[in-house]
Amino acid sequence: MTRPGRPAAAPPAVTAAEAAAPPAVAVPAGPRRRDALVRLAGLAALGTGGGLGSGPARAEAPGQAAAAASGVAPALRGARPRLVIVGAGWAALAALQTLRQAGAALDVTLVDRQAQFRALPLSSAWLAGQGPERLPRVDLATHVQAQGARFVAAEVQALDPGRRRVHSSAGVLDYDWLLLASGASSDDAAWYGGDARAQAEARQRFPAGFQADELDRLQQGLQAFAGGELLLTVPPPPYRCPPAPYERAVLLAGWIRARGLKARITLLDAGAGMPRYTRLFAERWRGLIEHRPYSEVRRVDPWAKTVQVDDGEWRFDHALLLPPMGAGPLAAQAGLLAQGPDGRPSRWAAVDAATLRSPRDARIFLAGDLLDRVSILFGAYPKTAQIAAELGHAAARQILAAALDRPAPSAAEMLPASQCHVWLDADPAEQLRIDSHYRLRGDGVIVQTQRQVDNPQPRGEDLQWARALLAARLGIAAG
Ligand SMILES: Cc1cc2nc3c(=O)[nH]c(=O)nc-3n(C[C@H](O)[C@H](O)[C@H](O)COP(=O)(O)OP(=O)(O)OC[C@H]3O[C@@H](n4cnc5c(N)ncnc54)[C@H](O)[C@@H]3O)c2cc1C
Repeated sequence: MTRPGRPAAAPPAVTAAEAAAPPAVAVPAGPRRRDALVRLAGLAALGTGGGLGSGPARAEAPGQAAAAASGVAPALRGARPRLVIVGAGWAALAALQTLRQAGAALDVTLVDRQAQFRALPLSSAWLAGQGPERLPRVDLATHVQAQGARFVAAEVQALDPGRRRVHSSAGVLDYDWLLLASGASSDDAAWYGGDARAQAEARQRFPAGFQADELDRLQQGLQAFAGGELLLTVPPPPYRCPPAPYERAVLLAGWIRARGLKARITLLDAGAGMPRYTRLFAERWRGLIEHRPYSEVRRVDPWAKTVQVDDGEWRFDHALLLPPMGAGPLAAQAGLLAQGPDGRPSRWAAVDAATLRSPRDARIFLAGDLLDRVSILFGAYPKTAQIAAELGHAAARQILAAALDRPAPSAAEMLPASQCHVWLDADPAEQLRIDSHYRLRGDGVIVQTQRQVDNPQPRGEDLQWARALLAARLGIAAG
């Protein structure tokens, strides 16, 4: 049976002239730059504090000392270093809030293809019919402007680190410093063997809802599901929010039961699974959830509704196809990917965990889900909202230090912490809290400690956590 789908709403593209200009802010004494005069002339013509479309010459070295050494005229001291932030998710908005709290020292522009910030945490219960969405959607232009920066709703198409330029569908943005906070992207080309039509069809009809702009389509697909085989795929790690596919499975199983549907959930899992959930599937959901570990998806046919794994083919009536993830095309195109242990490029962006700088370019900082390994002990940080927000905050501190020639925070101050609340069951309600802590070992290696705490009587701790994080780190009041 063919399921209805709907194209993702296209965000309004904002041109250079339309982009929200930041409110007037006092300009503190900033670094002196050889290029400042050219840039100021370009900005005056635009009437904004940004660098859209201008192509100025650039200072040779980062930081005030370097600029001073270059002999820039004192009259040019007022120019603020330009920071472009790619993405406006958890990491980016946390960085923005930290920059605002530190004063208006930088000229900040955020670019995101989405016009709204919409949280993925807490979305599973809403998708499984457990009440309304619990976190608000935030209009990015309004929020970013209130934070003293400006927002450009556009697709970022390419980064040019050599010229320090961001190419977007709204024009070219010049930067002195770049924060790449573009999250995790689907890396599903291999599933379709180069067939772009099949890829587009599957993304449209069978999204897993691991990107905010997929949530509404996923909800519509689930509403139309009348029974049969519901397939969920779990990619090889790392992927964002590791317990989320399993949480989705138990919530959807409860939803199927409550609706009295004749249906079955199959989880094709590329990895081993999470022991806490594996037990639940076997004990509480036998017959309704079938968990198949080490079943990595090789091919998808969205028209025949089949998925191939190494030991056979699965037919489905509806599916949440969660593909392998990576840092996405921008990081790859700009040469920012890490090298895997086999010497081949990893799917994720290389980062110096002590500074959150790209080892490929000292002008580029990175924060959030797109990061590759940070420790020989545990690999990458878990791809969670709190880690992304903590890293965004830490990256902003590093950027301020670099741009204003101030002492940089220590490696220990760069370490995040994370709390994650996931459902084990909705009826009766039962949750699990996963805490992650980090410390530096004597030799500088990052050590991770994780703890799982059962919460047999949840009283809205997940909502309290999300609201506190949004308020403290992102400056968003969520009730
Ligand atoms: C179902 C689900 C449940 C989750 N639950 C939890 C939870 O309970 N707790 C928790 O801590 N975490 C949770 N997470 C994880 C959390 O949502 C992510 O870790 C977090 O969103 C990462 O933040 P980020 O800033 O790195 O990326 P994002 O929030 O994805 O932001 C990246 C932004 O970059 C933009 N972007 C990317 N490329 C481009 C481009 N080329 N041009 C323009 N814009 C671009 C995107 O539109 C996006 O807005 C969950 C995730 C999922 C999928």
